[in-house]
Amino acid sequence: MDTMHEMLEITGPATATLPVGDGCSPITVIGTDPIRQSFGSQTFQQAINSRLAPGVSQVVLNPDAHVGYGAPVGCVMVSPTHVYPGPVGVDIKCSMSLLQTDLPESEIADWKMRRRVIQAIAKRVPTGAGRGQRHVPKSRSVDGPLGFQVATEGASKSVLKKLGIPKSWASRCEDASHTAPDGSVDTLAARLEWMGRERDKRDRLESKFRQLGSYGGGNHFGEAEVVSLSEKQYFRSIGEQWGLRDGCVAFLSHCGSRGFGHDLAMSQFRAMKAHFQSNGLAFPAGDPQLCYAEADSPEGQRYLCDMAMGANFATVNHMLINQLVLESFREVFPGIRGELVYFISHNIARQEPVDGRLQWVHRKGATRALPKGHEQLVGTEFEATGHPILLPGNPRDGSSIMVAQRGAAASAFSVNHGAGRQLSRTKAKKNLNQTVIDQNLLDHDVISNCRVYPRDEAPDAYKDFAEVLKSVTKAGLADEVARLKAKFVLKD
Ligand code: 5GP
Ligand code: MN
Ligand code: MN
Repeated sequence: MDTMHEMLEITGPATATLPVGDGCSPITVIGTDPIRQSFGSQTFQQAINSRLAPGVSQVVLNPDAHVGYGAPVGCVMVSPTHVYPGPVGVDIKCSMSLLQTDLPESEIADWKMRRRVIQAIAKRVPTGAGRGQRHVPKSRSVDGPLGFQVATEGASKSVLKKLGIPKSWASRCEDASHTAPDGSVDTLAARLEWMGRERDKRDRLESKFRQLGSYGGGNHFGEAEVVSLSEKQYFRSIGEQWGLRDGCVAFLSHCGSRGFGHDLAMSQFRAMKAHFQSNGLAFPAGDPQLCYAEADSPEGQRYLCDMAMGANFATVNHMLINQLVLESFREVFPGIRGELVYFISHNIARQEPVDGRLQWVHRKGATRALPKGHEQLVGTEFEATGHPILLPGNPRDGSSIMVAQRGAAASAFSVNHGAGRQLSRTKAKKNLNQTVIDQNLLDHDVISNCRVYPRDEAPDAYKDFAEVLKSVTKAGLADEVARLKAKFVLKD
């Protein structure tokens, strides 16, 4: 056991605190003992650096935590005054969404049917880095003006209508639209106009807009699932209220703001670092990845505008993917119905009430977890239940849909965003055996669009999902409403 693990004070079956000194409140650590053992000293060090950074009031380390950009992936960083681009991440508003269909699981028992759906999706939704609408015959065509509207309005009625997406889906989003901090769409429009003021810059923006409705590469995926509602009547009825259907096929998507969000994030990092350097400011713990701005400074306001535009693009990207996936299922199974259950981010900073005041909650690989009755759910479809938490595990061991409990107040109303990596990509490629991975997935009746499954994305590259879920429930943060069993997975 290293020094960091020895410093942990165990406070419950799946909770601990890590003191940081300097008169600061300790870091909240969520995880059973085996999960805590999965945290390396660099992960703890990044959490400490984040906790001691200016303006930060609270840091939570979740069970999926591992080393990230400045702050660990799998952490929550809270500040009443400051915004931190690193702890939002380069894929602004990387998110999960779930589409529920009324197709009984028996309809896709046959691999041939699954392959037909995979092909139908591949005609509409591109996968792979740099890929967009041009690469597939049946995507939507998104030109410059529509791209501008998407970035500035998000899933507005007009945008959804132009893309042929049901307008009811907007109320199934954690946030359907993001505005500038002054609440204005025009401020975003002016900034985007300014960004595209020169021909080559405009061309680049438009080429990124043409990625709308695509997954991208790496860890992003689409996965067909069979839904099993909880055996417990209370949670089962919550699942039914959300529109989940026991024994029917659902589709889980993971992706973000694609090249558009990446460009926005990278140019913000450059601008903020340059600002630090030209003003002789010190980076927290000497780490430029923890650069920051006061939210109401000009730098902070510019960052929040760009984060909002990236977030809008990610939102509509998910809405469009879900619509295209539904069309794909209908090509194979005419007449089936599908509804968006929920769309929720794990890379964003949101203003939320924490400890009695409005604070910037940075979720970096973390998922919002508001229980029933939370003030930000008042007037939404989820006021009486809490909203769905979409928790991917891995394609072999399944994924989970949870609902927050009141205990989530201990983690700034957040839970983990998945199982979290336990092997780096390099280690996974080196240590995991291709034949074993492919056979293992087939043994679990999971097929994929990949000729050989990417070794760095194999189930064993991620932490033990059962232990991760146990951590969440034992810490009193959330409970399981349904389990998802993968039937096919689309990866790059
Ligand atoms: P991210 O890549 O955004 O940090 O993490 C997403 C989470 O998704 C991971 O922690 C992992 O648990 C989960 N995950 C990664 N690949 C897959 C997949 O193909 N299927 C499922 N169900 N989950 C996955
Ligand atoms: Mn993600
Ligand atoms: Mn992402």
